[in-house]
Amino acid sequence: MLKWIDILRFANNGNPIPDQKIIKTDEEWQNELDDEVFRITRMRGTERPYSSEMCGLFVPGRYACACCNTELFDAEEKFDSNTGWPSFTQPIKENAIAYHKDKGFGMYRIETVCNTCDAHLGHVFQDGPPPSGLRYCMNALALKKVESDIRYATLGGGCFWCTEAIFRELNGVINVESGYAGGKSAHPTYREVSSGLSGHAEVVEITYDKSILSFYQLVMIHLTTHDPTTLNKQGADHGTQYRSVIYYRNEEERQEALKAIEEVQGQLDEHIVTEVVPFSGFYKAENYHQNYYSENGDAPYCKIVINPKLNKFREKYTTLLKNEDQNLVDN
Ligand SMILES: [Zn+2]
Repeated sequence: MLKWIDILRFANNGNPIPDQKIIKTDEEWQNELDDEVFRITRMRGTERPYSSEMCGLFVPGRYACACCNTELFDAEEKFDSNTGWPSFTQPIKENAIAYHKDKGFGMYRIETVCNTCDAHLGHVFQDGPPPSGLRYCMNALALKKVESDIRYATLGGGCFWCTEAIFRELNGVINVESGYAGGKSAHPTYREVSSGLSGHAEVVEITYDKSILSFYQLVMIHLTTHDPTTLNKQGADHGTQYRSVIYYRNEEERQEALKAIEEVQGQLDEHIVTEVVPFSGFYKAENYHQNYYSENGDAPYCKIVINPKLNKFREKYTTLLKNEDQNLVDN
């Protein structure tokens, strides 16, 4: 979860660039967009308060950039700020939005732009509701309401080289990133995490299509492809960074995780120690950790540790695997 301190850091140093950037000239944008949308998003305009019905809209779905259709906010993070502009407490992903210092109109504010196409969206303030305390004050015309089946799941079950290799093979999985979650600081390094002192767990963040694969299925697969009964340990890997953990983003996911644990517990003698905790941010690991298994298939760790796990998984979940022609996007 982003906090004000993260926003200030991003405004000063920039934040991670998304996989794709969209760059067009003002003229190209002008040809594509309605005049008012162009004025707000490309000329840094502001719409009149209470000028859109979007302020009072509270139904599930996503809000995407009006220029490039990149999804920026989930309806679950939308709240009634009584300001006359649609307001959110968090973006969908840490790098969905970029931040610039704005000293216009005699005020010092933080401007928010779409990190994919640089569309001006509005500003972010530190007077939002807990737990983030943030208020993303958006121009309704800079956003589009969309239905979306894309979801994120963050799971930890020992070394992320293993868990990433497994989830990448599932049909309905769009992308998997290896990284860190649940620690004391933002953007930890591998060295900090592997010391065990930072408090982070090695996790994977799975982007999936919920019309093909459910959160419950992902959790079931997770619980049955690592050992959920060993505390802070997977095979030869010891330490809290290897803990078994499921991060949930809403109450429904929490219930599904608990249901799956109950189901798997019924098949095991040992007690399941998997943590079920609220999602509080994901930090992508260094590039050499991404897609480790397919890049380093001949490494001893892959052959000795990952291959047997993968084979067991493929046998158990044959019907849920991708066809050979369905390739993942690479990080
Ligand atoms: Zn955009």
